[in-house]
This record gives sequence, C-alpha cells and structure tokens, in this order.
Amino acid sequence: MREHDVVIVGGGLAGCRAALEIKRLAPNTDVAVVAKTHPIRSHSVAAQGGIAATLKNVDPTDTWEAHAFDTVKGSDYLADQDAVAILTQEAPDVLIDLEHLGVLFSRLPDGRIAQRAFGGHSHNRTCYAADKTGHAILHELVNNLRHNGVHLYDEWYVMQLILEEGEAKGIVVYRIRDGSLDVIRAKAVMFATGGYGRVYNTTSNDYASTGDGLAMSAMAGIPLEDMEFVQFHPTGLYPVGVLISEAVRGEGAYLVNSEGERFMQRYAPSRMELAPRDITSRAITLEIRAGRGVKTDGSAGGPFVYLDLRHMGREKIMNRIPFAWEEAHRLLGIDAVVEKMPIRPTVHYCMGGIPVNTEGQVRRSFDSLVEGFFSAGECSCVSVHGANRLGSNSLLECVVYGRRTGRTIAQYVQGRKFPKINAELYLQEAQKRISDY
Ligand SMILES: Cc1cc2nc3c(=O)[nH]c(=O)nc-3n(C[C@H](O)[C@H](O)[C@H](O)COP(=O)(O)OP(=O)(O)OC[C@H]3O[C@@H](n4cnc5c(N)ncnc54)[C@H](O)[C@@H]3O)c2cc1C
Repeated sequence: MREHDVVIVGGGLAGCRAALEIKRLAPNTDVAVVAKTHPIRSHSVAAQGGIAATLKNVDPTDTWEAHAFDTVKGSDYLADQDAVAILTQEAPDVLIDLEHLGVLFSRLPDGRIAQRAFGGHSHNRTCYAADKTGHAILHELVNNLRHNGVHLYDEWYVMQLILEEGEAKGIVVYRIRDGSLDVIRAKAVMFATGGYGRVYNTTSNDYASTGDGLAMSAMAGIPLEDMEFVQFHPTGLYPVGVLISEAVRGEGAYLVNSEGERFMQRYAPSRMELAPRDITSRAITLEIRAGRGVKTDGSAGGPFVYLDLRHMGREKIMNRIPFAWEEAHRLLGIDAVVEKMPIRPTVHYCMGGIPVNTEGQVRRSFDSLVEGFFSAGECSCVSVHGANRLGSNSLLECVVYGRRTGRTIAQYVQGRKFPKINAELYLQEAQKRISDY
C-alpha cells in the first residue's frame, strides 16, 4: 500500500490548480496527482475559446455583477447564485495569478490581456491564448506542479473510491503499463475526473471523458446532482462531432441554412449567433427538422447547417482562430477562407456531477458532508451553471473552485492521521472484478 497526505484523481485544470494551491499554502504536505492519461493529455488541453473574467481591458463598463447576471440568466435561473457570485468575484484574481505563473495570454496592442466576445456574455470579457487557451494554461500548471514537488502518477487508472463509515480513505489503482494493482491511502481524496460526454455517440469530448469519477462516487453510495443537464454545443463539425470553438462566432462567423438565410434572426434577433448555447443548438435542430438543413451534395433537407467565415477574410481567420481552420482542413479537407463549414450540435459539457459546497467538500445530502472527500471541475456540481453553462465559464470554474478546494484541503489535512484500511481486501476484490470481466 502507498500513502500520500492528499491524493487528487485527475490532472486537468481543476486537479492541477488544487494541487498547486495545497503546495503553496502548506509546502510540506505530500500531494499526489493520479491520472489515467498524462496530465497534459487531459481534456482541459482541448479548450479553445477562452476563460471569462471582468478584467475590463476591452470593456471598462464591465462588472462582476454583470458577469454574475449573465451566468445566472444563461443557466435558466437554476444556478446557485452564491456560488456564481464567488465564481465571478474571484475571476480577475485567478486570471492574473495564471498570468504570473507564466500563461501566455493573447494581448492587446498596448500589452494588456486581450478579451473577446462570447455567447451569452453581455461584455467582451473572455481572455484567450489564440484558440488554444486550455493548452496554454494546463501546460503552465503542470510545469508548476513539477517545481513544487507534487508526485505525478500518470497513466494510472483509478478503479474505486475507498469510502468506509462515511469517510473517504483512499483509492484502488490499476497501473496501465504493467497491469499491477495497488491501494493508495490518504487523509483527503479529491476527484477532478472531468465530464462524461463519451457516453453519447456524437461528442466534442476526448476519449477519456467517460465519467469514471461520477460512477465511482455513485457506487460508493453518494447521490449525484443535476444529471439531467447535458450541454449540446451548437457547432460540432459534421459528421465527426469535433468542436469548432464558439470563438469563431465571437469573431464574427455566421450561421446559415440551406436557403442561405442567417436563421438566428428568427430565434435570437438581438444576440444572433452569440445567443447562449442551448438556444443556438435548439435553433439549429429546428432548422434541420424543418427541412432547411443541408445535405453533403449541398441540397436542402440534410442533417447539418453551415458556419460561414468567408466574409472574415484570411488574415483574421489565421490570426484569431487558426486552430478552427486547421481542424476543418485536417478532418474534412475544407478551406474555411473560401468554403463554408458543415456543422451541427454535439454533446459538449456535463453541468451535473458530484455535489459539493463552495469549499469543495462533497455533500452526502443537503446538510451533511462526506468526511475527507473533495471535488472540483467538470465532474463536480457546485451548480454555477444550472441548466446551461456559458462558454468560457468552465475553465474559470476549474481554476476558481480548484483553488478554493485546494485551500480547504490544505487546512483539512493539518494534524490528521492516516486512516486505517484493509488494503489486501480491496486488492482481492479488484483482482476478482478484473478476472470476472
Ligand atoms: C473541445 C472542448 C473545448 C472546450 N473549450 C472550452 C473553453 O474554451 N472555455 C471553457 O471555459 N471551457 C471549455 N471546455 C470545457 C472545459 O475544457 C472542461 O470542462 C474542463 O477543462 C474540465 O477540466 P477538469 O479539470 O474538470 O477535467 P479534465 O481536463 O477533463 O481532466 C480529467 C482528468 O481526470 C483523469 N481521469 C478521469 N478518470 C480517471 C480515472 N478513472 N483514473 C485516473 N484518472 C482519471 C483524466 O486522465 C484527466 O487527467 C471545452 C471542452 C471541450 C471538450
């Protein structure tokens, strides 16, 4: 049996940010991050469009209250408003902190961090690193973990959460390289295992987004929250489902149907292509159902509509959203400077998950907590997104609530003893599960 003061499952933005915070506040704490992929292969690396924060660099009239209002409105008024207030108030601070860590954000001509428009946001407040924002942030965080002596178990698959007498005590792990099993006990266990988009046929999520953390929590008897809220992103490349970032519409692309009409004028005349994702996805689906979708031969009645970038011009496309151009070119052979992209809605984000309070502690019920168990990021549900997440609020949730959860854990483990576990029993059970399969 191995042991660490804290074991964090998941090497995406939420897990890495929490690990870093623990090390900053309590450098002597022994922290391990366990991930079934290499941490820089976590789905966070694929985030393109950006991260929201009211820095006011582009729009001085922006406020955290406006950000909070947009988030609550976008959530269909189902978000937890206290959690949203924390998210939006702490946003500028976490953003500047990322910049100090070394994240290379795109800049305005005067050198300040640039901010772009994003669906559902009433001001230009989304910070970005071209259209590779997740990549830029995650790489810097992982580098910082190494400097801070966090133990990384990469390509170790976590099979089970050890939860006894209402207390999380550790995990059972399977080492992918050689198939060996082990138990890691810890004073605190955190899940930051990402979403479950892969349970759907068409999704923008990576192959690792299979909801393992949610399944392990449910199997340990913890009820999950808001599981009916699954987000469809409007612009998945047809037929593969790969995401074409909302930044493309943020930069001015049009959605058009088989009649060449910018149909969003009938569904969201003021926001047009930048309406919240649920409205835009439903609009596209209604167009397709009404026979105004397009077929692969270009005729009407097919399963997709077009995303049209052509009026934006080569220079803007290549400077602001080069990755979107590359994806369409690599996967479909389309040159978006002169051709329209075929798109349709694709499963993108899971609003629900492991219920947590605003300190990252897992809730067993409305008023009781699970000892020693914490969670943040897409697998958790602190309910800042309600029924629908606004673009660029998820990376923000990962860093704001990752940091808060790290802070809670740093305090929680002080003076705590390691729990007692009968490791042999768990190893035998895990071995049996594998051989019975
Ligand atoms: C294509 C795409 C683009 C996006 N663009 C944006 C954007 O521009 N702005 C924005 O705000 N949001 C965006 N999102 C959403 C955002 O990227 C994610 O919600 C967020 O990055 C999730 O981070 P995370 O840390 O919770 O989990 P992830 O980054 O998904 O990491 C999960 C980690 O858990 C590990 N793991 C899972 N199961 C196990 C297991 N059983 N054992 C061991 N390890 C395990 C994985 O290996 C991985 O390290 C996008 C999402 C996608 C799919």
